[in-house]
Amino acid sequence: MLCKLNIASAACCRQIEQEPNQSLMNKREFLRTSMILGAGTIVAPHIASSCMNSAAQKGAMASLVARDAAGKFVQPDLGYDYNALEPNIDAQTMELHYSKHHAGYTAKFNKALENEDLHSTDIYKIFNAISTLSEDIRNNGGGYFNHNLYWKFMSPGGGGEPTGKIAGAINDAFGSFMQFKDIFSASASSVFGSGWAWLILDVNGDLRMTTTPNQDNPLMDVAGINGTPLLNIDVWEHAYYLKYQNQRGSYIDAYWNVIDWNFVDALYHEATA
Ligand code: MN
Repeated sequence: MLCKLNIASAACCRQIEQEPNQSLMNKREFLRTSMILGAGTIVAPHIASSCMNSAAQKGAMASLVARDAAGKFVQPDLGYDYNALEPNIDAQTMELHYSKHHAGYTAKFNKALENEDLHSTDIYKIFNAISTLSEDIRNNGGGYFNHNLYWKFMSPGGGGEPTGKIAGAINDAFGSFMQFKDIFSASASSVFGSGWAWLILDVNGDLRMTTTPNQDNPLMDVAGINGTPLLNIDVWEHAYYLKYQNQRGSYIDAYWNVIDWNFVDALYHEATA
């Protein structure tokens, strides 16, 4: 199936090389028009959005993004109490992070989409064409989606070592879980200022670490490395400052105690199905 994804990806890439009538309007207008009309295929150079979309329409990835009857993106339930991740992530941080920061990204994302008449557009198409859209959509759309993932990557019953298919894939890619842990932690520590560290499955079917600044993510066409997210960590100070102050490393250490490997494994199964 990975082969099929790669083949489809190559086909998509060929399509984008043949964008019609580009001279009649600038690229941003072309892409926006295409998105609204649903005409043409908008893809980042390295990833097949149509494959991502079909994979995302059911299962774990699909559970991340919901829309209300009016088409507005909905902030998903946290799935556990604000204090459920104590002492690793404190209740006050969780409450502010979810009810203020994430709620804010969600509201501003919907507003920005309305302003640009993109309110009915698929979120994966938006990310795939993010370089053509406004900073408001990029920052708040990323903020919306990245946190939807982040809440799911944590669980009161989390921690420990992965099991199942993802465990074998991590061993194959990084040598051992301990080596992966060191690499992931080092990547998260290395983000300058605000951003995210990610474990992704790239279009070659390889597990890779990457980082993104601000609220960017590996589904965006602006990302240095594209791929399907399998795990992330928010290293904005608002994710840890109340409890850990400037000690980002202590927060990263604590994150390992709450990671929900079942969800990571479910995403990996979907991405490789
Ligand atoms: Mn955050």
